[in-house]
Amino acid sequence: MHELSLSYATVESVLESVASLNASRVISVTLVAGELSGVSIEAFQFSFPIAAAGTILEDTNLIINSEPVRVFCSPCNQISALANIQNFRCPLCGLASGDIRSGEDFIIQSIEVESDETETAETVTTEVPQNEHAHR
Ligand SMILES: [Zn+2]
Repeated sequence: MHELSLSYATVESVLESVASLNASRVISVTLVAGELSGVSIEAFQFSFPIAAAGTILEDTNLIINSEPVRVFCSPCNQISALANIQNFRCPLCGLASGDIRSGEDFIIQSIEVESDETETAETVTTEVPQNEHAHR
């Protein structure tokens, strides 16, 4: 199950990112799931608590934002979101374009932690290593 291993990788990545912050708890994790990342948000939400169990991410508020696929069209000189990810065409002029500019990645956008030392929430931003991605 791909989403479970991705959940473990995400938990590990978050723990690494907050290692220096003396965090007692991770309040929230915001992820961006591109429409072409191959990640099922529903499956990820189901498997994440399994991976987070017993860590400081156990009760974290998981936020997953879906990112549309955007392609660059050189005749229009524009980057536009695809209306349909089955159809790689510029929505402005209808020309085929495979020049994908967003929507392929699955990344950690931000992490909010509660720290023992400061008692204030700190937000850090990090990315899941590119090799964790599964491409179709
Ligand atoms: Zn165009």
